[in-house]
Amino acid sequence: MENYQDIRDGVTALCAEFPGEYWQKLDAKSEYPDQFVAALTDAGYLAALIPEEFGGSGLSVEATGVILEEISRSGGHPGACHAQMYTMGSILRHGSPEQKGRYLPEIANGTLRLQAFGVTEPAAGTDTTSIRTFARRDGDRYIVNGQKIWISRAEHSDLLLLLARTTAKDQVKKKTDGLSLFLVDMNAALTNGLTIRPIETMMNHHTTELFFDDLEVPASALIGEEGQGFRYVLDSMNVERTLIAFECIGDCKFFIERAKDYACDRKVFDRPIGRNQGIQFPIAHAYANMRAAELMAHEAARLFDAGERCGAEANMAKMLAASASWEAGNTCLQTYGGSGFAKEFDIERKFRETRLYQVAPVSTNLILAFIGEHVLGMPRSF
Ligand SMILES: Cc1cc2nc3c(=O)[nH]c(=O)nc-3n(C[C@H](O)[C@H](O)[C@H](O)COP(=O)(O)OP(=O)(O)OC[C@H]3O[C@@H](n4cnc5c(N)ncnc54)[C@H](O)[C@@H]3O)c2cc1C
Repeated sequence: MENYQDIRDGVTALCAEFPGEYWQKLDAKSEYPDQFVAALTDAGYLAALIPEEFGGSGLSVEATGVILEEISRSGGHPGACHAQMYTMGSILRHGSPEQKGRYLPEIANGTLRLQAFGVTEPAAGTDTTSIRTFARRDGDRYIVNGQKIWISRAEHSDLLLLLARTTAKDQVKKKTDGLSLFLVDMNAALTNGLTIRPIETMMNHHTTELFFDDLEVPASALIGEEGQGFRYVLDSMNVERTLIAFECIGDCKFFIERAKDYACDRKVFDRPIGRNQGIQFPIAHAYANMRAAELMAHEAARLFDAGERCGAEANMAKMLAASASWEAGNTCLQTYGGSGFAKEFDIERKFRETRLYQVAPVSTNLILAFIGEHVLGMPRSF
């Protein structure tokens, strides 16, 4: 497992400019971390997965994961900008040379933000192939109608990677056929049939509902072949799961470091609370689980970077890491006692932020169903 110490040092130094108070203020007002995202872009980290020929850093998924991990470990919230990285999988592997030439250099230099990934719908939920948003071909354009929910950062993004049906589910042989992927210009769409409605959530996540009412999208926005979008989106989803696993590892390290320090410093009954095994063992347990999840996250990234199948490892890494970060967060909160609930220590904020990852981008049950069916060969449950 490579350590990428240079990347870790660079990201840690950048994050030191954005301490807990910065994130606390944004959290209190549900504001977007514009300054942080700009700093990350200027330093080249947000363009980690964009090849050098298009102005990016051309890093591997493993190195990119380390960037996100260090943001989390430092107490920041990479959820504000991670989509720019994981949506790359679809565009790099399936976008046309024209699409790459037109968008990637501007995404790399920060002129354009690609921060929104539009998959989930209210009626379909986890059952992605049942989405109803429909893009109908009409000459050199598509007309899009439908609705999405939980589309994060849509108000802070210039581009949206949108999954829509182009053939109805009952008209295709395989339910994964007939779905297409589009790169939508959000600024043009906002005056042409797209409405965005923000959703308030328990953490600062800038998530929204999207309504498409005869939205016109040029045919040139289609990624790859019509009807193959589900297959393309799997590349982005595997990268997304792997990178979220790295974020959760960073959360684990944040919680474990804070819990360990507090357990050594805080004295009750004339001794550090960390001398009590009731406090010490849960922290040690969280550390062991973090390390196991960390190895799986690196394995998933290594496989993706080598162009090998990584679906099982990406799913398992995300599940193990989300579970480990939740355990570490809970342990840290318990170690801090009452102080864990005070906003000034960032524990309660990180605790809220890391909880999401057992539900999104895919919930634990669905990962278990994937392992049961596709890895172990047990009967399909749905
Ligand atoms: C803050 C936030 C940000 C998000 N950002 C995005 C985004 O940017 N883009 C995007 O496309 N989506 C986004 N999502 C959506 C997210 O991916 C979904 O919420 C998630 O996939 C679960 O879907 P659902 O909420 O519809 O739950 P449902 O599908 O309604 O499921 C509800 C519960 O039932 C369980 N369940 C359902 N079916 C089964 C089954 N067959 N067996 C066992 N258990 C089952 C699920 O595991 C879950 O626990 C976001 C969600 C949140 C909350």
